[in-house]
Parts: sequence; C-alpha cells; structure tokens
Amino acid sequence: MLIDSFGRQITYLRISVTDRCNFRCVYCMPPTGVPYLPHERIMRYEEIAAFVEVAARQGIRKVRITGGEPLVRADLYRLVEMIANIEGIEDISLTTNGILLEKYARPLAAAGLKRVNISLDTLNAEKFARITRGGELEKVLRGIAAAEEVGLMPIKINTVIMRGINDDELIELAKLTLSHAWNLRFIELMPIENQQPWGEGFPPPEDIFMPVSEVMALLKPLGLHPVNLPGDSGPALPYRLEGGIGTVGFISPLTEQHFCQRCNRIRLTADGNLRPCLMSDLEIPVLPALRSGQPVLPLLLEAVNRKPAAHRLTNHITPNGRCMIQIGG
Ligand code: SAM
Ligand code: SF4
Repeated sequence: MLIDSFGRQITYLRISVTDRCNFRCVYCMPPTGVPYLPHERIMRYEEIAAFVEVAARQGIRKVRITGGEPLVRADLYRLVEMIANIEGIEDISLTTNGILLEKYARPLAAAGLKRVNISLDTLNAEKFARITRGGELEKVLRGIAAAEEVGLMPIKINTVIMRGINDDELIELAKLTLSHAWNLRFIELMPIENQQPWGEGFPPPEDIFMPVSEVMALLKPLGLHPVNLPGDSGPALPYRLEGGIGTVGFISPLTEQHFCQRCNRIRLTADGNLRPCLMSDLEIPVLPALRSGQPVLPLLLEAVNRKPAAHRLTNHITPNGRCMIQIGG
C-alpha cells in the first residue's frame, strides 16, 4: 500500500500522455501558446505501462489518462489496452475535450476503457469557440453521444465556473442532468499560469473566479439533494436536482477547507515526472531511470512521501513551472 506522510492512501494515478492539444482554452494556456516538448522527451507507451506495473504492485488501482488532449496522441487505444491488462488495475478512464471522441470512442471501449470525463463549459457554440479558441461545440456533443452509445458510462462532464463568462448558463448546464444520466461537475477556476489577460471580450482574470458556494446558491431553487454514489466520486460532492436522473457535483479546491485531506492521487507528466500535488511545482523525474534500466520504485515511494499536506493557493502561493495543459488537470 502507498500511504503518504499524512496517512492518505494513494490509489489513483493520473497520466498525461501529451502536452499538445487541438484546443487552446483560455484558462488552461496563455494566448501566445506554450512551446511543445520534443517527441524524444515524451514517454513512450511501453515506458508508461512499465511504470504503471510497478505502481499497481504498490496498490494503484485507478488510472486516468489526460493531457493536453490525450486523443491527439496516435493510437491511444494501444496504451489503454496495455494498462487494462496490468494486474491490479481496476479502473481506467480518460479526460478529454471530446472533439475526437466520435471517432475514437468505440476502439477505446474495445481496448478496455471504462469511462470518460468530457469538458464542457457552455452550451453556446459561439462562446464555446471563444473559450476554447476555435473549438466546435457540435462535434463535442456528438462525441458525448458516441461515448454513451458504446457504454463509456457514467459520463462525467467537467465545467469550469467563470464569472462573467458562463455564470449565466450554470442553471441551464445543471438542468442537463434532468434529461441525461450524466455526472456534471462544477469546478472552481484554479490560478495556474492564467493570470494574464485572456483576450478581447474577456473580463480581467482576477474578476473571473467564482466560488462553488455561489453556484450552489444559484441552483438551490432547483432542489439540491445530497446523494451517495456507488464507488468513489472523487473530489466532487454529488447532489441530485429535484427529478434529476444524473447528478451535479462541486469541486472546490480553493474554498473547501479540507479539500486536500481526501486527495488519493499522484500525477505523471507526459515527460515522465511524478508530480505529488497538482498545485505544487515539486516533481520527481522517472523517465531517466526507466530509460537506463534503474528501478523506479524508490522514486514512486519518494513522490508519495513528499506529497504535501495541502496546497497553499489561499496564501497566494501558486505553482509557476507549468500551465495546466502541461500537467493534465
Ligand atoms: N484536454 C482534456 C480536457 O480538456 O478535458 C484533458 C486535459 S485538461 C487540462 C483537464 C481538465 O482540467 C479539464 O476538465 C479542464 O477544464 C480543466 N482545467 C484546465 N485548466 C483549469 C483551470 N485553470 N482551473 C480549473 N480547471 C482547469
Ligand atoms: Fe486543451 Fe483540455 Fe487545456 Fe482545453 S482544457 S486547452 S482542451 S488541455
């Protein structure tokens, strides 16, 4: 078992497979873009799988694949298949912007993928294109439908809450769970390398943050009933709207005092660094060890041991080494 210095059991590994993306979301990367890593610095599927084998022997049970946009990486189903075949891995899921899901949902499900999380911040096509700097809403909606069709369930939808941008749509988004068995999760905007202006027509970044408590107050008239979901619902506290068939969850890394106490995860970046905490720049490289045949177990144990008790965002201490697109969220 992997137990960190604060008694938290680590069972969940989030793997970023690329730092590239076919969107350029305003909260995730600067308008100028970010330089891509050269191919030779990106972990090969065999290297990722070799690391997951070691991690699974230590008690990692859940794996999530993320990016950048994981579906821009060639033949992702191959990695899914490799990980699904590793003894001890019980759950393998994917976080995606959904634009390529229509094409890949079926081969991914056949390879052993269990579930998908899809990011969706607005139902307005023009606004969607502005937030993602060019994304097509219609294709994403088709991607969600394709994921449902092949049974990648339950579908989770991630919505970043942004005052002055999508706060006028939060009720409409929540109401999607009246007619769809989706788990929609409202996520507080995290201040990771996104404090520079987002571009024409966007409010100043410091005005955009909106706490989950305000969203809950907005949704209260719709009837918010706490629910116990089978299994681990992760960092989201789930509720059901009156008459809903899906759920609405709230992820509040900034305003929930004990958020970090429930953290059960570590991250692996696309260039092979273990990152014990999303919100801390601390990273432990594993790729050189993998490539030179050195053991990676000591590095995994070090990453778990050095996992901080909590982030320090409330003291305005933010990570500054990477943007979200380079970590994986
Ligand atoms: N490209 C995929 C996607 O968009 O789902 C996976 C990677 S993306 C970095 C993972 C998640 O992080 C997405 O749901 C995205 O909305 C979220 N995210 C990115 N930047 C964020 C920020 N500054 N605050 C909160 N969530 C953020
Ligand atoms: Fe790409 Fe996802 Fe970041 Fe948007 S949130 S730029 S889709 S990695």
